[in-house]
Amino acid sequence: MKKKKLALHWQIVIGLVLGIIWALLSSKFGWSQFTLNWIDPFGQIFINLLKLIAVPLVLFSIIGGVTGIGDPEKLGRMGFKTLGLYLSTTIIAITLGLGLVNFIKPGKLISEDSITENRIIYELWAKSTGNKIVDDICISCDENKKEFVAQIAERNGSTVVSSDVADKMMMASATKEAGPLQFLVDMVPSNIFVSLNDNGLMLQVIFFALFFGISLLLIPKHSSYDVIKLVNGFNDVFIKMVDIIMKAAPYFVFALMAGIVSKMAGDSPARVIEIFKGLSWYFVVVALGLVLMAFVVYPLILRIITGKSFSYQKFFSGISEAQALAFSTSSSAATLPVTMECVEENLGVDKRVTSFVLPIGATVNMDGTSMYQAIAVIFLAHMHGIDLTIAAQVTIVLTATLASIGSAAIPGAGLVMLMIVLQTVGLDPAWIAIILPVDRLLDMLRTVVNVTGDATVSTIIARTEKMD
Ligand code: ASP
Repeated sequence: MKKKKLALHWQIVIGLVLGIIWALLSSKFGWSQFTLNWIDPFGQIFINLLKLIAVPLVLFSIIGGVTGIGDPEKLGRMGFKTLGLYLSTTIIAITLGLGLVNFIKPGKLISEDSITENRIIYELWAKSTGNKIVDDICISCDENKKEFVAQIAERNGSTVVSSDVADKMMMASATKEAGPLQFLVDMVPSNIFVSLNDNGLMLQVIFFALFFGISLLLIPKHSSYDVIKLVNGFNDVFIKMVDIIMKAAPYFVFALMAGIVSKMAGDSPARVIEIFKGLSWYFVVVALGLVLMAFVVYPLILRIITGKSFSYQKFFSGISEAQALAFSTSSSAATLPVTMECVEENLGVDKRVTSFVLPIGATVNMDGTSMYQAIAVIFLAHMHGIDLTIAAQVTIVLTATLASIGSAAIPGAGLVMLMIVLQTVGLDPAWIAIILPVDRLLDMLRTVVNVTGDATVSTIIARTEKMD
């Protein structure tokens, strides 16, 4: 009798758990260096392989999707609907995040003294950089605090910003110096071959693919026929490549997790617990928000829009492989090919819809990232004794929306963009160093939300648009 094979997503989960166990054991027995030298590289290879496919797949699938939909008017309508839904889910996510963080206030759960000390450091930073202080409580003006301020200033003056944070600050300040319409300018490539060269320029690839696809629809059939056939052929090849890579996914995920946890733990497993201790409440609030978004809000939206025919179980078992992969790779771009396959094959969404809606979603729709940015800003402000006004919180909604659109779909991108959100409301961007230690795990969770959001929107589009 033929044995039934365990579903791939379970195999991936097993690889993931074994990878964590391996890393903890290897850190206990002092083999971390072995893990980093001999196991971790396979995790990197896995991410590279998936990213290798992401750019050509976005290119060919969008062109194929546009020509498949056929009618430019219908395409325009679908495009607006898609962007509208992406924007709405992002705003819902940020609002939920702001609600949770203002209600639970994890940043105020640290001692009064540390908040006062943090507040003073912030004011010194604001003065030295010419930044406007965000509210008018001026602790440093209090006579009794003068000596305390001097001590802190001395300590703060000698603070060395780690090179990791300094790199991220440089990236963020380059983005910040640009004018308000720079993001539009950045979307239009001046040379498509340069855009194809860089996974971070995915928006340019999308722009080109849409433009190319629409132009293809407007030329006579006898000229476009062969090009369309070729594009669809390429698409099938890239999807096959993903199929082949995914066969080894559980092993790759084992290596990936072993590497990530080993880097955190070093040669002492207790370090992992230490890292989480100080930030546990912040971690809990972000994780709670993300879980609510993925497993309560999206199903609710689907239920409201698509009615009784929505099945919770079918939806989540259909996308579980993509969710498991998003969790282990922390990259919605790397997960994209699998998301497309899951949504098409398991949720029955028309290929023309997935190939148009999902690549755009992987790049611009990051509900998990935007929610996390909103929570992180308020948390950091609270722990520095700063209460942001409603106006500042509305600014956070706007900047976090734009920042999540601008974040590349790769690990850690949300953290870099968080610096811009902090700067916009007058806070110190170097604060990302405070939450950096737990960022990787939160990145894994927010990527699951990003991918689930894309799957939700494509299901809605498929159910509400007639495809003939
Ligand atoms: N890793 C996330 C993604 O690829 C982006 C981020 O939040 O850093 O979706």
